Amino acid sequence: MNTIKLATVWLDGCSGCHMSFLDMDERLLELAAQFELVYSPLVDFKTFPDEVDVCIVEGAVSSDEDLEKICMVRKRSKKLVSLGDCAITANVPAMRNPFPVEDVLKRAYYENADLQAQTPCEAIPKLLPMSRPAHEYVPVDVFICGCPPPADVIHYALSELLAGRTPDLTDKTRFGK
Ligand code: SF4
Repeated sequence: MNTIKLATVWLDGCSGCHMSFLDMDERLLELAAQFELVYSPLVDFKTFPDEVDVCIVEGAVSSDEDLEKICMVRKRSKKLVSLGDCAITANVPAMRNPFPVEDVLKRAYYENADLQAQTPCEAIPKLLPMSRPAHEYVPVDVFICGCPPPADVIHYALSELLAGRTPDLTDKTRFGK
């Protein structure tokens, strides 16, 4: 049987959606025969492959690095799945949106710093003016809402995707659940 090349990507999220993915537990092992996990924070591959069948994205697009990554991932993936409310609405990361980036950085790195108050200038991606959902930048094929989406719903969606179908998630989950 041909295996599906599966990737998962972590943008600006708390990793709770990836934890829910892992909560499929032994069912994940049953599905594992049908896919090859080629890139993910759950494994150690450092380079996103040129061609991926299904890529699941957690988190909002909040920084220049996130934006570069989601554009690259879209180009290289046949199907792109937004997993969770942060990917779909920006959710928690968007709580900083009413404030200018300078005020957010000042609050984090100066007002709440006990020692060495300074803005990090190396290895920290530059924040975009607002945290936005992935589909505002690139086309997304499947949306799995929830914070995080339940493991049962992820299992259903992944099973359908591995079978080459687009999952019908109507009535299966909702925002915030
Ligand atoms: S949707 Fe919820 S669980 Fe998923 S990354 Fe966002 S805050 Fe975390």
